[in-house]
Amino acid sequence: MGSNMTRQHELPAGRFSSWLQRTREALAKGNGITVPCGECTACCRSSYFIHIKPDEKRTLARIPAELQFSAPGLPAGTVLLGYDENGKCPMLIDDKCSIYEHRPLTCRSYDCRIFPAAGIAAIDDKALITRQIQRWKFDYLTIYDRNQKAAIHEAAVFLQTHRKDFPAEFVPRNITQLAILAITVYDVFYRYHFESGKSRITLSNTEIAKAVIEAHRRFEADMQHCHTRA
Ligand code: SF4
Repeated sequence: MGSNMTRQHELPAGRFSSWLQRTREALAKGNGITVPCGECTACCRSSYFIHIKPDEKRTLARIPAELQFSAPGLPAGTVLLGYDENGKCPMLIDDKCSIYEHRPLTCRSYDCRIFPAAGIAAIDDKALITRQIQRWKFDYLTIYDRNQKAAIHEAAVFLQTHRKDFPAEFVPRNITQLAILAITVYDVFYRYHFESGKSRITLSNTEIAKAVIEAHRRFEADMQHCHTRA
């Protein structure tokens, strides 16, 4: 009975390596990703401010003006969609997104599988999302899947524990952005451990940080390339 209960509460997250490839492509192209959320609306109830860019005209046309707030510090024209006293997005009506076809890119890009992928088991102030994080179960069909997962986790731990080895502001305080950064630079750790065959990284922390910054720069350059081609 115990294992049936466990299975019932698990959410299939797909094969790890396939998910990672799709996620990195979506990040590079800046478009959304299909997430098998099912009935879950945790991220619509978790006190998030949703950023909406000025070119998301169809989205903006569907959100009442009184729910659009200016976003100081963000690029000109960006607006914020807030949440009510229970942390719920005002566009969530009867447990469904009332503007689903035209929901903001921020919502279409949100995938809470990034947290288990980065080994982040809980988010302090987000109980509903933490519950989902703990339900996702990836498939690890080969050692390749497991090694990728291990490298992302290692990237996330390194970023958090070696902030001082990076330029100020390089390592985000925001846990979502941190998980995304780990996904974009994981290959530094993957290459060293699983392609070099060494069990321990013998580089200094400064050298690892330098390699991480370079991997990030390369990923951003790819992003520019994809956006230019789009
Ligand atoms: S706009 Fe829709 S998808 Fe986005 S948080 Fe609100 S209800 Fe959820």
